[in-house]
Amino acid sequence: MTRKKPAIATTAIHGGEGIRYPGDPVAPPLVQSVNFVQEIGTEAGLMYNRYGNTPTLQRVQKRMALIEGAEAALVLASGMGATACAMLALLRPGDHLVASGHIYGGSKRLLEEEFTRFGIAVTLVDPFEPRVWRKALRRETRALFVETPVNPTCRVIDLRPISYLTKESGIALVVDSTFASPVNLRPIEHGADVVIHSGTKFLNGHHDAMCGVVAGTEPYIQEVLQKMVLWGQAPDPFAAWLLERGLKTLEVRVRRQNDNAMRIAAWCAGRKEISKVHYPGLTSHPDYEVARGMLDGYGGMLAIELEGGARAAERFLRRLKLFIHAASLGGVDSLVSEPRYTSHARLSAEERARAGVPDGFIRMSIGIEDADDLVADLEQALK
Ligand SMILES: *Cc1c(COP(=O)(O)O)cnc(C)c1O
Repeated sequence: MTRKKPAIATTAIHGGEGIRYPGDPVAPPLVQSVNFVQEIGTEAGLMYNRYGNTPTLQRVQKRMALIEGAEAALVLASGMGATACAMLALLRPGDHLVASGHIYGGSKRLLEEEFTRFGIAVTLVDPFEPRVWRKALRRETRALFVETPVNPTCRVIDLRPISYLTKESGIALVVDSTFASPVNLRPIEHGADVVIHSGTKFLNGHHDAMCGVVAGTEPYIQEVLQKMVLWGQAPDPFAAWLLERGLKTLEVRVRRQNDNAMRIAAWCAGRKEISKVHYPGLTSHPDYEVARGMLDGYGGMLAIELEGGARAAERFLRRLKLFIHAASLGGVDSLVSEPRYTSHARLSAEERARAGVPDGFIRMSIGIEDADDLVADLEQALK
């Protein structure tokens, strides 16, 4: 009998573990030490936390690779650290990168403000325009960068046509998969070469650790490792341990978040105070078909637009009791935030409206509380 590859719920708990012996701890030991005794007379076996080769880091690196279906993975100090090192390992001065314009604000600034100063050309495109990717390619193009689903509109980019193009052109497809989590999307299965996560979000899932992940081929991850070591982007062992701890419940958390978000999106769609609901699990969403074909779950992120605009939004946020007004996402607590004060604060009201994020737009990160309680909170706040 051929054994089926373990499901993600199992891999997230046991992936990469060796044989257990009597007396071994069931919970993974946190080895907080930065330095380790070295053998005399050889450089082999030198362990140092910034090198990413200490026990607590190595355990979770292996597990992340198995979860993403990648040859190797690296855990870094933050999602931004992961994005920076992933890109530095791919791009040299004179190279060109094509990136989706719908990416995390920090990633956009990193590419536009920092990378261009290193002589790396960056073209941002509207990923929902037909044939836009092919048109943007140049002889110097080395990589294509997308984020899907997209913050905060929850638009979903189809990876399949993009991956045909990158394979045909011999360039790398890099996907920031933070919003989906590996439970809902494993980009390598859809032709991606590199997967990036802000581990601070769904992977940790408890709002209490900052880290990032890059997954890809073994030789590529060795390149990313060199960047991580020299740019000082390794995580603290405790953050890596909290990531591993979070991974153990990843599957149940995300499934619950998917269910809660679907329930809330459907409820919001029937309210007259709400003019628009952005959730890829609703058949009214422009990318419903893409999402249905590519995702295993529609995710814990959604957004609503209030009929009463900016003033209604402020009143609504002040009345919420369970939902916490805070940036970030993906954890067990439900959060709400307004892009006009976070990701889109640098734009004018007109520019925000044109970007599909008018005032009155509220982003929700749905947690794992009881769905009825969450709906009741929304209902009392809308009154
Ligand atoms: C939060 C986030 C990042 C940055 O991650 P940090 O852990 O905050 O550095 C990158 N991409 C996406 C999609 C994010 O949501």
